[in-house]
Amino acid sequence: MSGYHVVGVARSYNVLSGDQNAAGPFNNKWRAEQVRDQLQAKARLTVRPCLTCGGDFESEGPHNRMCDECRITKREVLPACTVSKARPLSVTS
Ligand SMILES: [Zn+2]
Repeated sequence: MSGYHVVGVARSYNVLSGDQNAAGPFNNKWRAEQVRDQLQAKARLTVRPCLTCGGDFESEGPHNRMCDECRITKREVLPACTVSKARPLSVTS
C-alpha cells in the first residue's frame, strides 16, 4: 500500500505522499480522493510478461496477466458464445 493520503488545508485539499505534496490543491475533497486513488493504482502497476504473447506490459495486479493488445485480439478470435440446445431458454408470457 502506497502512502498517499488527502489532507485538508484551509479551504482546499492536497494529496500527500509522506510529507510531500503529490497533487493539488483541489477545491473539493471528492476530487482529491479521486486523484489519490489514481495515484495509488498507478503505484501498484508492475511490469509482467503477457501470458499470451510474452511481451512486457504494465499489469494492474495478479488478475491482469494479458496485455491490452492480446485482450482485444483474443476477444476477436474467440468463437461466439453458444447456448446449449439441450436446455433451451424458457420464455414465460
Ligand atoms: Zn500480449
